[in-house]
Amino acid sequence: MAEQINAFQMAQAQFDGVAKLLRLDPAIAEILRWPMREFAFRIPVRMDDGSLRVFQGFRVQHNDARGPNKGGIRFHPSETLDTVRALATWMTWKCAVADIPLGGGKGGVVVDPATLSTTEKERLCRGWVQVMWRNLGPRIDVPAPDVGTTPQMMGWMMDEYSKLVGQYTPGVFTGKPLGGGGSEGRTEATGFGVIYCVREAMKHLKMDPTKCVAAIQGFGNVAQYAAIGFVEILGGKVACVSCWDRKDKTSYTYSHKDGINPRFLLSITDQYGTIDKDKAVAAGYTVEDGAAWITKEADVLIPAALEGQVNAETIKQMSGRVRLVAEGANGPCTPEADEFFKQHNIFNIPDFLCNAGGVTTSYFESVQNDMNFYWTKEEVLQKLDTKLTQAFYAVLEMSEKEKVYMRDAAYMVAIDRVVKAMQLRGWV
Ligand code: NAD
Repeated sequence: MAEQINAFQMAQAQFDGVAKLLRLDPAIAEILRWPMREFAFRIPVRMDDGSLRVFQGFRVQHNDARGPNKGGIRFHPSETLDTVRALATWMTWKCAVADIPLGGGKGGVVVDPATLSTTEKERLCRGWVQVMWRNLGPRIDVPAPDVGTTPQMMGWMMDEYSKLVGQYTPGVFTGKPLGGGGSEGRTEATGFGVIYCVREAMKHLKMDPTKCVAAIQGFGNVAQYAAIGFVEILGGKVACVSCWDRKDKTSYTYSHKDGINPRFLLSITDQYGTIDKDKAVAAGYTVEDGAAWITKEADVLIPAALEGQVNAETIKQMSGRVRLVAEGANGPCTPEADEFFKQHNIFNIPDFLCNAGGVTTSYFESVQNDMNFYWTKEEVLQKLDTKLTQAFYAVLEMSEKEKVYMRDAAYMVAIDRVVKAMQLRGWV
């Protein structure tokens, strides 16, 4: 069996492919294949029982040619330096494709946060900042929440940083709670961002959204607002959503003969994105196996749950009606699915363009913090729409000009912008 490559090797392989297409100078490529700075450190934390536990922490700053590094901090038991390197690299490309003036970063701690008490979590968050603070800041590196970390944790981290530098500095972390320096519109941002991209793709494909049906996988933060947006912004119909059922330990697809009502389903969904099955059945919803979502008669597929869900196996069940796939999740489509899309002329909006609404609104949060002046939700969403629409057309134009697939075009736009910034700053 072929040896499996890790996430960082994959990120480097993707980059190498695009560097070749762009005929990039090998020395410039060598800079971008690797993070510019990496921090691996130990964080001692006093536990509630008085014992001392030492945690492994990381922060990787991939490239800050376009602006301060940006990216989440993950608390996960199987976190590794290579995972963090890969995610930091992808953040550089995501910020560049969205054309926000930020670079790429990512951080982590090897820990299962569910095993810690609230006070232990707080001490670990403050400990992470005590090690890293000299290399963080609104003009240096701006972390955010990610897997296993929450807005509350960002609040503690921002507080620790502010104490260490001696002044209130909310713009050093984003994803903070509303009222604690957070931005309006962050909850909707990623799902609505998916819909702004879908809207423009439909114009390009000459599809009438009011006559179109979408099938969505997932019903967490991204999928909920993608479903609401598809119905309320585009006037289309959503055939189904799906979710993991935490009680039954399996996944289900929820559909309705008239199309689902996303606001109703949201009202019976818990904070982890699990729909209350009994209430859905009572309201006339059909409940099927989790895999059924992809088989629905739909024009648009929005995988917005997990990675690798649209793959060599599942595409065989896909309805022949599908013309557009919008990647709400990170990495939901495998290379085999990409090949299938190319062969069947299915238009794909790649993840780091399609779900860039989250990081774009994080950038808006940081900007509002810096100004100490806050926008309304309408203003935030309007700015988000403008940004993502421009990003969509930059990628589409590259795709048409270079006759490449949208994913390659998105990489080309991103890498080209980072290289230009490095040249303009005289780095290369
Ligand atoms: P979430 O935890 O809020 O929701 C995940 C949803 O997926 C839940 O409804 C869960 O029940 C469902 N799910 C889990 N396993 C499933 C399965 N086997 N079958 C069907 N459904 C299943 O997560 P989220 O924030 O909505 O993120 C979803 C994806 O989008 C992830 O890949 C994430 O990395 C990516 N993403 C999120 C954001 C953001 O701002 N939230 C931004 C960029 C990318």
